[in-house]
Amino acid sequence: MDQASLHHLLSALPSVEEVLNTSALLSLRASLPQHILTLCARDAIERARQEIRKGTRHEEELLSIASRAQTQALAYLRPSMKRVINATGVVIHTNLGRSPLALDAINAVVDIAQGYSTLEYSTQTQSRGSRHDHVEQLLCTLSGAQAALVVNNNAAAVLMVLSEYAAGFEAIVSRGELVEIGGEFRIPDIMVLSQATMVEVGTTNKTHEADYTRALTSHTALLLKVHRSNFRMLGFTGSVSVAQLRALANAENHRREVSGECTSHVLVYEDLGSGALLNLPCFGDYDEPTVVASLQAGADLVSFSGDKLLGGPQAGIIVGNRDLIERLKKHPLARAIRIDKMTLAALEATLRLYLNPHVALTSIPTLRMLTEKIEDIYARAQALATILDHELPPHCARIEVIAETGRAGGGALPQCNIETAAVALTFIVGSAQGAEHYLIAKHSTPIIGRIKKDCLLFDALTLTSSDFSEIAAGLGAYFAEQNNEAQSGQTQGRHHG
Ligand SMILES: *Cc1c(COP(=O)(O)O)cnc(C)c1O
Repeated sequence: MDQASLHHLLSALPSVEEVLNTSALLSLRASLPQHILTLCARDAIERARQEIRKGTRHEEELLSIASRAQTQALAYLRPSMKRVINATGVVIHTNLGRSPLALDAINAVVDIAQGYSTLEYSTQTQSRGSRHDHVEQLLCTLSGAQAALVVNNNAAAVLMVLSEYAAGFEAIVSRGELVEIGGEFRIPDIMVLSQATMVEVGTTNKTHEADYTRALTSHTALLLKVHRSNFRMLGFTGSVSVAQLRALANAENHRREVSGECTSHVLVYEDLGSGALLNLPCFGDYDEPTVVASLQAGADLVSFSGDKLLGGPQAGIIVGNRDLIERLKKHPLARAIRIDKMTLAALEATLRLYLNPHVALTSIPTLRMLTEKIEDIYARAQALATILDHELPPHCARIEVIAETGRAGGGALPQCNIETAAVALTFIVGSAQGAEHYLIAKHSTPIIGRIKKDCLLFDALTLTSSDFSEIAAGLGAYFAEQNNEAQSGQTQGRHHG
């Protein structure tokens, strides 16, 4: 574009006043204060100005600028974080908020959030209490640990343990366990952050006991074991168990005592990742370690997430030796990464359900989904198919129930397939991709399914029957839009013809 026409376009941009006086923005006057609308109008004009300068826009049209300002203004009125319907069949879906909470946990959050609480107050002594007290006994009972501490999330827990016990010293870890969990959480980076010197041993696929033995020195503070979480190695592999690490640490600690070295003990710490409190049948042949097993095998400290296999709120739980946990409670990071009262309420209520494993399996949604019988999942898929069959307009899609495989997700049991059933739609009107986009981007409660070949799948594993009417409504609206477009296309066709 030449300078003259560029200048012409820029000077023809509407004023803030003009944008504010379009019907798009006038209609919002009742719901938003003037200064917010002004902000949106100014932003929309500024964006148009930049696009014209960059050459990506060739008009200064008032209505399109007003429409953008309106979209921006409307965003202030609607929550950005919304409930979604998870029809993916991935139970612990990190992008979708991991574990849904049990009803007891939800009620506890509502109760505590509404008013004041005994968060840090002891009704016994009528003086300051500790927020840790609300869950410590429960965690000890459930895991067999001497003591427990809860922080914001497991990444924070790992950082704190390494900072307290390995800063300035060496922490030994197998090359086969130097994982990246996602979201930039990598074990080597956490080591750097905690100022521990990471000593890598073994190879990618195999690490032997002797590798640790060779690496142990007077500077060793910690033997770290990390759950592989989101990947699995097959074939010629080998790793060293917590029990073996315990034996190595014991031998080294004995050597230090005998030789009179005044360095502290070598600790065994396992970052369990998901941290199962119960042995679930869905593990099948997988040897998913439980928290109890890790402690029994001799770990001094074990940490895990609250919102993965545990099925509670986001939290990082550290259990283990009393003296070690007491030192962690005093670490400056403990305050920086502390858990908030709503999360603590949800966690306490969730843990209480575990006192009776049967209650935990039926009332904690994550556990219920992971242990549900395939017949029940099938029945739910069938019920959804029947509703869709009745409620969707005829000849829009072929609806069938198919066998599928779901996943635990959340860095738990990565290659472990869970037998499930899904409703598969083959589209006669519209397309699977079009419907998927519509249900996610345009439906008020986004419905997230999965595409397989040319079908859109709704996996019954992660659905409850209360989701069905919403799915029927979403698909109904999609087909209505498709039919409208087809009709207006025909009318336009006639006009042009
Ligand atoms: C998930 C995971 C973490 C991080 O836990 P968050 O609770 O998400 O912070 C750390 N280590 C392992 C092995 C994990 O699987």
